[in-house]
Amino acid sequence: MTMQFSADEEFAKQLDSEDPLRAFRDKFHLPLGKDGKPLIYFAGNSLGLMPKAARQVVDQELDDWAKLGVDAHLEAKTPWYTYHEPLREPTARLIGAKPVEVICMNSLTVNLHLMMATFYRPTKSRFKVLMEDPAFPSDTYAIKTQIVHHGLGPKDALILASPRKGEFGVRTEDIVDLIEQNADQLAVVLIAGVNFFSGQLFDIPTITKAAQKRGITVGVDLAHAIGNVPLSLHDWDVDFAVWCSYKYLNAGPGAVAGAYLHERHATNTKLPRLAGWFGNDPNTRFRLHLEPEFIPVPSADSWQISNPPIFSMAPLRASLSIFEEAGGMRPLRAKSIKLTGYLEFLLNEIGSKKFTVITPRDANARGCQLSILAHEHPKELFQELQTAGVKCDFREPHVIRVAPTPLYNTFHEVWRFAKILAEHQ
Ligand SMILES: *Cc1c(COP(=O)(O)O)cnc(C)c1O
Repeated sequence: MTMQFSADEEFAKQLDSEDPLRAFRDKFHLPLGKDGKPLIYFAGNSLGLMPKAARQVVDQELDDWAKLGVDAHLEAKTPWYTYHEPLREPTARLIGAKPVEVICMNSLTVNLHLMMATFYRPTKSRFKVLMEDPAFPSDTYAIKTQIVHHGLGPKDALILASPRKGEFGVRTEDIVDLIEQNADQLAVVLIAGVNFFSGQLFDIPTITKAAQKRGITVGVDLAHAIGNVPLSLHDWDVDFAVWCSYKYLNAGPGAVAGAYLHERHATNTKLPRLAGWFGNDPNTRFRLHLEPEFIPVPSADSWQISNPPIFSMAPLRASLSIFEEAGGMRPLRAKSIKLTGYLEFLLNEIGSKKFTVITPRDANARGCQLSILAHEHPKELFQELQTAGVKCDFREPHVIRVAPTPLYNTFHEVWRFAKILAEHQ
């Protein structure tokens, strides 16, 4: 699909007036700049904006605590004891999973460790892990320490799929080649949904097929993919996935994260796992001192270790309702492709020799983020953007990441951003 764009300001306003999701912006608090006007907030890939409804959901939990004390576990408006349950279905819809495959718990890196505890069971012959390069530092720390935890060395056991010289994305064919070359020794392929640095959306179904054909487990880190691009984890047959909820899900700082395990694993109570009482069958949970055998719930719930942290889960409910109300990822993705396509068009119009967009050109190979590599004085350029009221971020040594999101950004903001960039180079 090719879209006809124009660099006129009127055209941007026209796109906004035709945008079926335009009313959603008003559901968020927009941080203001020094001039009292909303910042051009393109940092939703780092911390999504606060849904106005979040305060009321959190207040409700505080009120229930004040009024009910311990009884709130069962008698709160949304009972705390089963607080993770209402999150299950809307989350499953976002990632294309069955409810039995999803659990909202902990934080992302913790969940990655928990999934590795189950799925990374290195043997003498099969002990390697393949990741993309550059992977987010926390994922690299987690995987390297997992390898060491099993008495192995990252030098032998970690394989990185890197972009070719002069390129910024990792080619699917290169990932598949690496899988083939290491097929007998690979235990796990861990790939991002969307890479945090380049904004590349990986071809998860192809990578999953290539790995599983060789008996390799596939995990996906959805930190930059959930709430950004449509996903079909179950149909793609992905083995496990993890994500955080404070980026495109707008659930607030340190919000409760999530994990997915394919049904065949989620219902397999024989799989090894690191367990706690909230993964145990609720019918015997409180008889633990009488029946000290761990009886896993036959679902992803059995990877849940502790009781749900209510205050960091509450805003996630507000956030998921917004995604439901918007009609899920399909309409959001349609707007997102247009919004980011428009940004790309305007950057091309500026036609600068001073920066290069390192995110794939193909809309199907990226999410909403564009990563702009500044050739000269990148830090100064970033500073100038900040001063002009743009909230985006900078990744050493020279990349400015901008992520216009379909829930709360406008085409006119994209237009203004491009104007600021054109004026400041
Ligand atoms: C944001 C992000 C993280 C952050 O990890 P936390 O455990 O939530 O602090 C980890 N991995 C990736 C790929 C990310 O994008």
